[in-house]
Amino acid sequence: MKKPFFLFTIIVLLTVSFSAKLSGCITDEFDRTISARLRFISLEKKFLTTIYTNWHGEFEVDLPDGEYELEITKGPEYERKIVKVSVPSDQRKIITLKRLFNLTELGWFSGDTHLHTLYSDGKNLVEELALSCSAAGLFWAVLSDHNTLNGADEWLTFRKKGLLTIAGQEITMKNGHINAIGVQKLVPWQHSSTDEEMIEIFKVVKMQGGIVQINHPFDLRSPFEKLPLEGYDLIEIWNGGGPPNLAGFRNNESKEHWFRMLNEGRRVAAVAASDCHDVYSTYSIAALLPMFLVVQLMRRDFGEYLEAARANEEKLRAWALYGLFPGTPRTYVKVSELTQQEIIDSLRKGKSFLTNGPLVLATVNGAGPGETAVVTEKALLDIKIFSNVQVNRLIVTQAGKCVHEIAVETVNGEFEHRVYLDPSDGEWVVVEAFGDFPVYAMTNPIYLSRQQK
Ligand SMILES: [Zn+2]
Ligand SMILES: [Zn+2]
Repeated sequence: MKKPFFLFTIIVLLTVSFSAKLSGCITDEFDRTISARLRFISLEKKFLTTIYTNWHGEFEVDLPDGEYELEITKGPEYERKIVKVSVPSDQRKIITLKRLFNLTELGWFSGDTHLHTLYSDGKNLVEELALSCSAAGLFWAVLSDHNTLNGADEWLTFRKKGLLTIAGQEITMKNGHINAIGVQKLVPWQHSSTDEEMIEIFKVVKMQGGIVQINHPFDLRSPFEKLPLEGYDLIEIWNGGGPPNLAGFRNNESKEHWFRMLNEGRRVAAVAASDCHDVYSTYSIAALLPMFLVVQLMRRDFGEYLEAARANEEKLRAWALYGLFPGTPRTYVKVSELTQQEIIDSLRKGKSFLTNGPLVLATVNGAGPGETAVVTEKALLDIKIFSNVQVNRLIVTQAGKCVHEIAVETVNGEFEHRVYLDPSDGEWVVVEAFGDFPVYAMTNPIYLSRQQK
């Protein structure tokens, strides 16, 4: 998916007058420099720009004179900080960003299975993408340019920077888009493939040790609507190119379709991925512009969703402001060590949760997502939330139906809750967390197996 944002770039440039340099660096609470993402927002000037530090946490930017809110982030495990900046009076800023939560210690690592560069229709160099993934606090990331592996060799060199980069290919066909994750050689494809040919493609990916992800299954260009095929591993029920959980939009259709698949006993794991084409999320400026421009901007991508877009103006604004960055949204996998093979295995098994902010850890009698809990007449669901953004409520869904709704009040971003499930309500359970739109997270299913007494 691509966003036409040239118009907005021009509008922004027209409002620019005098400018000055601002530089600085970002450190963690131990004074170690860290890569991070910075956004300068001036609501009054309708100006918004995103930059990244370099790998060593340093930044330098030219800004039009004025007052800004500077938002500094490094993914869900670090605080989201907003400081005031004044240009030209501020010249150098040293900002500390605390790590609030450490999921690494619990074996959870976040990544993004769907990213683009200039090697296909993305806007960025391979290094810009790798740096922005690191700045988003991602531990692993899959490059998935359309029908090419040309960026893969360079992509893999960024493992030396501590980002576990994985080569991939977005096999882009008239029939739909699928990600071949963890392949070494270009997977042959045809613009138009029959179901049988598609199943052959799945096999080729697997022979290379990779896995197959069905991308944005309800995209207008991806008629995977009934997903009759077998042999794929993952379904991207949450694509960053659309808002999450909004009736009338395709991510919501994908989620509902996936719930039906689970009810039919098809245990396919879900993923959330950004499908980022522009690490600066230039599109976010839509949040500050009149709605007719926003609708204009969406016309190409949303087509028949135009009515839904008009009816959800404020939500779409909030979503645009939240940004279409690498890792928004992302998938956390649970692994015993951070290797490509472990990540692929955990993705396939669904030992994962999907999020654009809240961290949701759920177990039933000790079994986590992708695992099976052996239960008798009652099962104890244990939910822990860690979040650097506000979370308002949780929904526990069993076999596609809401069985518990829980109000959330976090203390220092943390919340814990236990609730009993009745295994006769269904064989799978997911936990969803909701904050102010578009803040959202969902676990993959924990499966319940009844043991007769
Ligand atoms: Zn695609
Ligand atoms: Zn894509």
